Amino acid sequence: MRHAPALPGSGHAAAKTPGWSGSLCDVSFGPGAIPGATGTPGEIDYRLARRSLISEYKKGRLAQHEVCDAHPELVRNARECSEPSRILCPICEAAKLVLVTYVFGPRLPASGRCITSKDEMRKLAARPGEFACYVVEVCPDCAWNHLARTFVLTPARTA
Ligand SMILES: [Zn+2]
Repeated sequence: MRHAPALPGSGHAAAKTPGWSGSLCDVSFGPGAIPGATGTPGEIDYRLARRSLISEYKKGRLAQHEVCDAHPELVRNARECSEPSRILCPICEAAKLVLVTYVFGPRLPASGRCITSKDEMRKLAARPGEFACYVVEVCPDCAWNHLARTFVLTPARTA
């Protein structure tokens, strides 16, 4: 049941990394499982999967420890280098969710890099090569985590 999403350009580097890869693997399907999304660079949305997970939890079919299993590293990144959103955690309803962005690509660590500012993202976008971005929502309080979206950062195609 544990599939790592295919990481364009970096093989399955993230899946092998002891870092926070557990969280990546915890999504129930990869981008390839979404109709029409295969091979299409662009933004992929995971709201449907998220909604069904939350509803399974609310119905009592999933225990809290099954949905609130963010890797400590991911929670640390959420606390220390990412900005809280305005969305309330769907599980504990006590804290605001934090969106943590990881980027994988050429000349980046195999475990990906946690992006902390729009400026950093702009600099990456200006570099040659394709970068796969994973945005994960994390609750710093209860450790709920879910892949929010993935997208591919392509170099500016200006001549
Ligand atoms: Zn929470």
